[in-house]
Amino acid sequence: MQVIRLSRPGAPRTLPEKVYEMILATRLEMRCTKRKILLLYASNAPFGGNVVGLEAAAWRYFGRSADDLSWGESAMLAVLPNAPGLIHPGRARERLLEKRNALLDKLEAKGVLDPTECMLAKDEPLPDKPLAMPDAAYHLLERCRAESGDGPYELTLDATLQTRVNAIAKRYFDMYHTNLVDNMGILVADVHTGEIRAYYGNTRGCASRLRGADVDMIPAARSSGSTLKPLLYGAMLDAGEILPTSLVKDTPYNYNNFSPHNYGRTFDGAVPAHEVIERSLNVPSVRMLEQFGAERFLQILQKLGFTTIDKDADHYGLSLILGGAEISLQTLARAYYYLAAELAGDPVYEEFAYRADAHRDRLPARRIPISRAAAYLTFDALSNANRPEEEASWMDFATGRKIAWKTGTSWGNRDAWSVGVTRDWVVAVWVGNSDGEGRSGVTGVSYASPVMFDVFSALPGAAWFARPTDEMTQIEVCHESGFPASDLCPQRDTIWVPDIEEQPDMCRYHRLVHLDAAGRYQVNSSCCPPEERKCAPKCASSSRPRRSGTT
Ligand SMILES: [Zn+2]
Repeated sequence: MQVIRLSRPGAPRTLPEKVYEMILATRLEMRCTKRKILLLYASNAPFGGNVVGLEAAAWRYFGRSADDLSWGESAMLAVLPNAPGLIHPGRARERLLEKRNALLDKLEAKGVLDPTECMLAKDEPLPDKPLAMPDAAYHLLERCRAESGDGPYELTLDATLQTRVNAIAKRYFDMYHTNLVDNMGILVADVHTGEIRAYYGNTRGCASRLRGADVDMIPAARSSGSTLKPLLYGAMLDAGEILPTSLVKDTPYNYNNFSPHNYGRTFDGAVPAHEVIERSLNVPSVRMLEQFGAERFLQILQKLGFTTIDKDADHYGLSLILGGAEISLQTLARAYYYLAAELAGDPVYEEFAYRADAHRDRLPARRIPISRAAAYLTFDALSNANRPEEEASWMDFATGRKIAWKTGTSWGNRDAWSVGVTRDWVVAVWVGNSDGEGRSGVTGVSYASPVMFDVFSALPGAAWFARPTDEMTQIEVCHESGFPASDLCPQRDTIWVPDIEEQPDMCRYHRLVHLDAAGRYQVNSSCCPPEERKCAPKCASSSRPRRSGTT
């Protein structure tokens, strides 16, 4: 009868209504088990104020799930639906206490509780004022609600991790808020399962009435900054157009009035490709994209699931590699997840899962357009934390754990990105203002990376990828130029590269030239007879500045 009454709010208390409810109750009794009826009652009963349902009441009054309540607490909730007004402070609470204790006495009389249990339960005080409802993953729940209505939902989140991520975000928010940087998004996914373990959509709850904090930053499209550079590096390794060691020009560049500069506004002349990625150099990246082709790279990005990059190559031009296109935390994390899962030999799913109750039959991803060999070399370059372009004092973090990570900063300091990958985890962080206001000093390395590394330190596991030697081969490269060594290269190094047919051309920097008898001038047959010439290897790369710590 009570379940039926709950299902008919506002019905009049008249005899005909009562009779009708009896008929409905009889039907319910015939159709459902007692257990099911009890479940319906527990889910819909009023528990005072606007609290509906036993589970909500347990959290509201005791801050715990109904499974975890004591006898005293359970008894209080059991008597409350018959008189929900008794939860209010004052005299009503004495009556609530009496009712609760009467129930506990009844349980003792029936032998459910022994006398000691009953006495201890009756000693428990009633809860004080109601607690705030837990709101640990507001934006994800809103997302589920928008997708499929009111829950409940079973999520893939790790409650402990989510709580820690929330606490980390709050700590950084307190710092960033002083610079009027108010919004943040954090996504943590498990590489093995493709499941989201922590979903922090924004800084809701960090301060009251915060601008933009209701916006879920996980799917929001924002300028990519430098975060796509490593994917170009991977694609070019696969195409045999670069080697990790091969030199890329780093000289002033102008293309249709597009004239990028490096972060430090300096030029190195030429740098090995892996260093372009490690130091996130803009000018050589633009040259690499010009060589590879924006159209071709766009296709790679689309295969990697960047659905917000949907214009054609002419629209983006070469600025595609410097933040000209928009990505979201979700697509960024997912692309890095694809590479990590493929490299680790885990199943690669098209989508992250966040609903344990709805994503059991997930689609496998399309073919990943970057090979395991190239992914390994890319992550290897990204694990070198020594980045002179963006030095910061907190760099000490990396001791003991290898993480491949990439930062990004959009034009006008509007977006700070940091994405990191290990064998087990993908962590992606965005910091900025959701209304798009840029603030001075907001860069990926100074705002997003510290958050990302704190999240990593809250995660277990420190495994690194095994080198996919089945897809790789060792070749000799010129020590000076990093290209495949010719017979003339004086010093060679052996490196691992993707095992593909196309490799870059031989070193062009060491070649044979003819000199005069004194060995002073370069000559040819028009100025010098052959018997007076002498052969000598010439090093055309001697102008290249040496950097310490490079290979
Ligand atoms: Zn050479």
